[in-house]
Amino acid sequence: MSTLDTQYIELMAAAASAKAAEEQGHITTGALPQFGMNWGLFQYQYDGRPYIKASCSHCRQFWTTGQLELTIAHCGQVDSMPEDLRDRLEALQIKLGIRVQSFVEKIIGGSSPVKQAVPGPSLASF
Ligand SMILES: [Zn+2]
Repeated sequence: MSTLDTQYIELMAAAASAKAAEEQGHITTGALPQFGMNWGLFQYQYDGRPYIKASCSHCRQFWTTGQLELTIAHCGQVDSMPEDLRDRLEALQIKLGIRVQSFVEKIIGGSSPVKQAVPGPSLASF
């Protein structure tokens, strides 16, 4: 199976479980759970960059980030990105070349975003 297939299945599974969790919440309570946080890993259609989306079924707000950390204060509480989701985002970013892992980082864990050259107007092109 190709890497892309695996990623696709991974993403679909994440979307499906998020949906299942949402539906389950509605079925079991018959009303919105008081603190219904849904977290998921998605990819932008236009460039394939992965991002984390969090939504709260109580205050109906949602948040997205491509960073490995997200802490949200809402509904009188503070929620942080689940660790397993953070790991999956990091792994996907490394796979896609958005994030790099040095030799040392591979051993001790961790990674760094790729430093992107900012394309600016260049006089040399005129
Ligand atoms: Zn909320």
